[in-house]
Amino acid sequence: MLSNRAKALNPSITLGISARVKAMKADGIPVINLSIGEPDFVTPDCAKAGALYAIENNLTKYDAASGNLGLRQEICRKLKKENDLDYTPDQIVVSSGAKHSITNAIMATVNEGEEVLIPVPYWVSYPEIVELLGAKAVLVETKKENGFLLTVDDLAGHINDKTRMVILTNPSNPTGNVFSQDQLRELCQFFVDKGILILADEIYERIVYDQSFTSIAALSDEIKQNTIVVNGLSKSSSMTGWRIGYTATDTAIAKAMGSIQSHLTSHPSTVSMQAAKYALRDCAEAVEMMRRTYQERRDYIVDFFEKELPELGFVPPKGAFYVFADISVLRDRLDGESLSLKVCDDMLDREVAFVPGIGFGADDFIRISYAASMEDIKEGLVRLQTYVHDTLK
Ligand code: PMP
Ligand code: GLU
Repeated sequence: MLSNRAKALNPSITLGISARVKAMKADGIPVINLSIGEPDFVTPDCAKAGALYAIENNLTKYDAASGNLGLRQEICRKLKKENDLDYTPDQIVVSSGAKHSITNAIMATVNEGEEVLIPVPYWVSYPEIVELLGAKAVLVETKKENGFLLTVDDLAGHINDKTRMVILTNPSNPTGNVFSQDQLRELCQFFVDKGILILADEIYERIVYDQSFTSIAALSDEIKQNTIVVNGLSKSSSMTGWRIGYTATDTAIAKAMGSIQSHLTSHPSTVSMQAAKYALRDCAEAVEMMRRTYQERRDYIVDFFEKELPELGFVPPKGAFYVFADISVLRDRLDGESLSLKVCDDMLDREVAFVPGIGFGADDFIRISYAASMEDIKEGLVRLQTYVHDTLK
């Protein structure tokens, strides 16, 4: 009854764990949720005001397939002001979340059978989206000692005449690492020289701690021409449920994406688009407040790992809201096919939820999300510490 593509698809492990936690909570189990990458803040009032405006002024009918023009103009202003990027509204497509933007972008540029390079560890949905669209996900291992940041050397043997695109996530989900400008420039110039399109997922761009952020498209005009910038409001403005993502590309790609969207969903909800417009225009302070709060939590966790839990290594987190913790020291002590699944199952028994690294292609790791209250973070880490010490006894 099912198509081959549906049969081949794995459900999202991140959303799956989150649903499991919600079910446990509904059963009265007070699970600490350090799994899903979803801001624990409410959507700021400055964004909600846009939705109220849309409803009160009857902005509730069909709009342009590429997204509301006023929002696309606001996105262009944001890209200029924050990223020093010049785009015109006809180069912007607004979709129903960054996930949808990524899907449209791949659909518009990658043929069936062509290959998409995906550095490991990867965000769970990339390989699934690529394969769902009939292309081939080519997983490229990166090195722990490089903080899992892709290098040109890692790509040896992975590129051929079918390679069409690479997906770069900066800051990274799941590692929280951020490329330096020099690293990015070398890597992206390599892709330009090889004629490989860059899909730059920059959804965590506003959540960076120790350095300023450089958009890949801002590296040079040549790189910009070769890049599809993906961004959205889910993370930066705590608007996950509003489902607004967007791309900035050359005009031809944007036009193709708009046509695809015109047949599949028409466009995202007009109410959400107004909220997104207000968020980009009015919420800089709220966004910065959230970023500072994540930074305090990040600092606490790093300190805890260094002083209280030195048995586990971790990738120094420079952005997003994740710590990727190395659990390989537990490998000899635990049974089971997957170490990270075993650790996460055991921790769920202790009522703390993390995401197993196997979902990101790295079974020696677990992902700890600190998009959670300081109280939950502190308690979750103490329970992890007790578990690690019990296991190593
Ligand atoms: N890219 C990355 C790296 C993510 O972590 C997520 C998680 N939500 C997305 C894209 C998708 O975001 P959205 O909720 O806007 O679809
Ligand atoms: N991207 C977030 C995460 O990695 C949210 C869940 C999802 O969309 O997969 O947890």
